[in-house]
Amino acid sequence: MPFSLPSLGYAYDALEPHIDARTMEIHHTKHHQAYITNLNNAIAGTELENQSLEDILKGLDMNNMAVRNNGGGHWNHSLFWEILQPNDKGVLSGPLKDAVLAAYGSQESFVEKFNAAAMTRFGSGWAWLCVHTGGAVEICSTPNQDNSIMPGVGCGGTPILGLDVWEHAYYLHYQNRRADYVASFWNLVNWNVVEKKYLAVAG
Ligand code: MN
Repeated sequence: MPFSLPSLGYAYDALEPHIDARTMEIHHTKHHQAYITNLNNAIAGTELENQSLEDILKGLDMNNMAVRNNGGGHWNHSLFWEILQPNDKGVLSGPLKDAVLAAYGSQESFVEKFNAAAMTRFGSGWAWLCVHTGGAVEICSTPNQDNSIMPGVGCGGTPILGLDVWEHAYYLHYQNRRADYVASFWNLVNWNVVEKKYLAVAG
């Protein structure tokens, strides 16, 4: 099977009180694992079997719902675990900060607009900060497990920061209070990782 569950790099309870251990464990071992299992099954015996996940998503037939939902699910959750961190998170700084300020004026205004993207995503989906070739950043939001690596989805940039707003990401602890979950997300963002991802695209 080409794809397997990546480790979190921190304990399930490491993000408490912002994200509880039970939610993290179910989210990682059940939800994320299911996307991977279903993706592996969907590509088995097809030409996609030997491609990287990025290549699969870039060249995706958007009518192939099994690969779209499960390939997106695997990519999105892998990014999500990576940009969360209990300690040593750094701060928004350097060229990424410059790009955020150029696009949104201030960090506060950026957070406000990102939160609005997360709050106005009806049903299930994601809010993203993406980077375009050349280094400009843009906030967007996508439904379900779509992301803007896929053809014709979102803003067309590469996601470097993402927030899962499916109810499975917060319901046990926050129930219907998505706004509280979104607000607490900012306590967990690993800016060091987001900045590395920014520089990898922007140069
Ligand atoms: Mn999720």
